[in-house]
Amino acid sequence: MESESKFALQARWVLPVESPPIAGGVVTIENERIVAVGTRAHADAKVQDLGDLVLLPGLVNAHTHLEFSTLSRPLGQPRMPLPEWIQLVIAGRKQQADTTAGLTTGLRESLQAGVTTIGEIATSPFAAVALDILPDLTVFQEVIGFSAARIDSVFAELQQRLHSNHPALQVGISPHAPYTVHPELLSKLVVLASERQMPVAMHLAESPEELQLLSKNTGPFRELLDARSMWDGKIFANGLQPLDYLQILAQAPRALVVHGNFLSQNEIHFVAARRDRMSIVYCPRTHAYFGHDEYPLQRMLDAGVTVSIGTDSRASNPDLSLLGELRYLARTYKDVSPEVILLLGTLNGAEALGIAGSVGSLAPGKLANLTAIECDRSETSPQSAVLFSNQLPRQTWLRGRKANGK
Ligand SMILES: [Zn+2]
Repeated sequence: MESESKFALQARWVLPVESPPIAGGVVTIENERIVAVGTRAHADAKVQDLGDLVLLPGLVNAHTHLEFSTLSRPLGQPRMPLPEWIQLVIAGRKQQADTTAGLTTGLRESLQAGVTTIGEIATSPFAAVALDILPDLTVFQEVIGFSAARIDSVFAELQQRLHSNHPALQVGISPHAPYTVHPELLSKLVVLASERQMPVAMHLAESPEELQLLSKNTGPFRELLDARSMWDGKIFANGLQPLDYLQILAQAPRALVVHGNFLSQNEIHFVAARRDRMSIVYCPRTHAYFGHDEYPLQRMLDAGVTVSIGTDSRASNPDLSLLGELRYLARTYKDVSPEVILLLGTLNGAEALGIAGSVGSLAPGKLANLTAIECDRSETSPQSAVLFSNQLPRQTWLRGRKANGK
């Protein structure tokens, strides 16, 4: 990395995201932060002309599991049922005790794809090595505990883990999913998150098999739990739905509902009505990998949900490129404008993580996390130039420093 205390970057287009694009725009940076965004440099800042590039905020990957980043291809086969895929994940985790290699590989790959902020689900504490590569990380410590008898021990172990993360990280809690976390444990975790003012992220309404388990106590997830001697008939005896979990999550200071592929309209409105603290993370290519029914993106946007974007892990996605996700959206959802698609991958992700005051757009006072993508002059707008292209970013800046991804 290299740095100068005050300098300005000029590009064919500057895309602040929270305000209109600026042709020939200039972003002035001083001491890690943006001090001005406009058509000329602030005060005496030396200007570096980047040429035919679009300069935009670093992308926000709101959901991933970097421990799987050394996988060369997703586990299993496309369109496989989620419960079968989960079994492959469990087997893979047993083989790989040390997650450091996956972590560093995943962070570097993310940087190369212009990602500067990540919402990571982790099974062990994060140390300085991660921050040295990418400093704007939120690390949700994952919790799995389905048996009522283990609630106290799982809770105690999590508290230990929360203490062991590097102090510069934002730390959160991730109760894994309804089929792996006892509802009483979930409630305890949400209370803990409130006491510590931490965000919570939970996989919810991801597959039809999950809904079948909650409402009818049957199906492949029931069989999986039976086979592992983990089934507890009391949990879903009266039938549950994702709304029951949303109501618990709504008590957290901030909650990210991961996937939400099968949320009902009523449940979508429940999240939208709490948009100051609840959001939904859509993982487009992971959703496509499992061949689920069409994602209710338009309905969520119409309802006013804060939708952010995640790659999920390389166990269900070919890579960790958030740009790849946004480009997939641009090709798939012709009715969603390029402006909105870029918003999902930047400011909405920052809002979901509760850090929109410092990242997610180009504005004075925010951290100078930027990425620059080649601008094809034939494209009609800078947003289209970013989304209808195959190019990886030319350069990315982390807190005002050029990141080299090494
Ligand atoms: Zn996930």
